[in-house]
Amino acid sequence: MTTAVFFDLDLTLLQYTTDFESIFERAVPDAPDGAYERYVSVLLDSFDQLSTDPYYEGFGAVVSEFDVDADPETLTTRHAEAELAATTVPESAHEALVRTASDRPTGILTNGTLEMQRAKLERHDLEAVVDAVVVSNDPDVAARKPDTGIFHAAEASLPADDYVYVGDTYDEDIVGARQAGWDAIHVGTDGPDDDPARVDSVDEAVARILD
Ligand SMILES: [Mg+2]
Repeated sequence: MTTAVFFDLDLTLLQYTTDFESIFERAVPDAPDGAYERYVSVLLDSFDQLSTDPYYEGFGAVVSEFDVDADPETLTTRHAEAELAATTVPESAHEALVRTASDRPTGILTNGTLEMQRAKLERHDLEAVVDAVVVSNDPDVAARKPDTGIFHAAEASLPADDYVYVGDTYDEDIVGARQAGWDAIHVGTDGPDDDPARVDSVDEAVARILD
């Protein structure tokens, strides 16, 4: 029996050194009141609609509706650079991923755009470690957690007898994985306190899977 292991990326393997509003402000210094909220609203709707370019759409709304003297391409590029610069992967999480991949078929399963999520993986030397990368807004996947479609896309990308998912967001990661028939380990504090899937760290999740 082979068990494949998929990991969530944002806030599971990868952490942020600053909040999302600060990243936005690096792309749009001195943003008018309401611009950030409008950006977030359009961004999230675009993600939900499985757009391949939700950041561009978010900045397009900002440029057309507010007094911002820049084009959406420039803001999108600046934001991507600021977001990447704000990412970090703890050594312990990197080592846990390497340890898993040396023992099991291992992948990344993440909500986001293919371009941005791959850029994060490359920046932190994660892509070469894993066997598969499954991203929600990739047109070949076109399903976002907790939709079971993204878990089925992961199964197609990495055949195995069983699957386990490691993620930080209870309603998306743990509920979604279980609905798809997967086991799940929760590296987070949201959701029910008494769920036995909860652990404190990626290391602990991997120890539970491998040891
Ligand atoms: Mg996450």
